[in-house]
Amino acid sequence: MRRERSNLTMKAIFSQPLLFLFKRLLNPAHKILHRFMCFFSLLLLLQSAAACAQWFSDERAIMGTLVRVELWQQDAKKANTAIESVMTEMERINQLMSPLIASSELAKINSQAAQGAVVISPELFELITKAQDVAELSTGAFDISFASIGQYYDYRAGKQPEQASIDQLLDRINYQQIVLNKKHSSIRFLRQGMAIDLGGIAKGHAVDRGIALLARQGISNALVSAGGDTRLLGDKRGRPWLVAIKDPRHDDKQAVLIPLADVAISTSGDYERFFIDGDKRVHHIIQPSSGRSAAGVQSVSIIGPDSTTTDALSTAVFVLGVEKGLNLINSLAGIDAIIIDAKRKMHYSNDLRPPRR
Ligand code: AMP
Ligand code: MG
Repeated sequence: MRRERSNLTMKAIFSQPLLFLFKRLLNPAHKILHRFMCFFSLLLLLQSAAACAQWFSDERAIMGTLVRVELWQQDAKKANTAIESVMTEMERINQLMSPLIASSELAKINSQAAQGAVVISPELFELITKAQDVAELSTGAFDISFASIGQYYDYRAGKQPEQASIDQLLDRINYQQIVLNKKHSSIRFLRQGMAIDLGGIAKGHAVDRGIALLARQGISNALVSAGGDTRLLGDKRGRPWLVAIKDPRHDDKQAVLIPLADVAISTSGDYERFFIDGDKRVHHIIQPSSGRSAAGVQSVSIIGPDSTTTDALSTAVFVLGVEKGLNLINSLAGIDAIIIDAKRKMHYSNDLRPPRR
């Protein structure tokens, strides 16, 4: 865990009102001076407590990505406990939702739901319900059953499924073939050969859970991020947080730096997991209608009230492309988008566009 002493702390120690009060106290009669001295000591006590507050941060590799927590706290022990609680929560969600962990609930769904209804935890049921809502909203651009074909890609090994296998499995990608039963908290697939994956929404969910944990521990200024999903609790103590959108083609450069507070921002990019095949970039965001990587944009950033929503929508808008994607975002209150298209041109949703003169 890193401690970062803030300038604000030093400003608090030498603040002008305190110096003024101190000068005033040197003049009056002794009795009044004594009374004021008591008040003054109390003030100093409070000030020194505030002076100890500082930024704490930590980063860890969880869920196949880098998880970062940054928060403002007075007590180092409490800060440590708070950061640990977020990391533990992220690992818990990974164990529950990773398709790669044989004991996960998600793996159980994939191996059993085509045979009959599988009863799942309320948390997973709720998240899959939310994924289905976004599938409906995006007319199937976001579809967790993309994994019916997506599971046969291996980006590290540079492998992709043959066209014949894609043709054979394409009709397994259809969110309407996922049946949820709220009463029994169960899920069922209507076809053999179907699989689901929550890679487009689970990190956002984990970030939201992390922020909720910090808020419950009395923290009011914090950042939690997991890969491209970031949520901010409060501001950076009197200043906004500055969140960068990466240049999709230059790892060390930023396309934009956005001042934000108390919101979530998620970026989906074709540079996260990919390999190059001839003149094609084969990447991890799948167009459900073709079973191939979605083309047309390099990155999509969504700003909104919570990370579960922004995470799912960034993947959905990536698949929809510039025009349909912006139409969707412009129809949703309190959600904004910044898209970098295949020619590296930037597009903004209506509320982010500067007014025309
Ligand atoms: P993100 O990192 O939020 O952009 O999400 C990318 C991840 O979403 C991928 O690694 C897949 O796990 C998953 N994914 C890919 N294509 C889709 C899709 N069409 N609908 C839902 N999830 C998808
Ligand atoms: Mg996403």
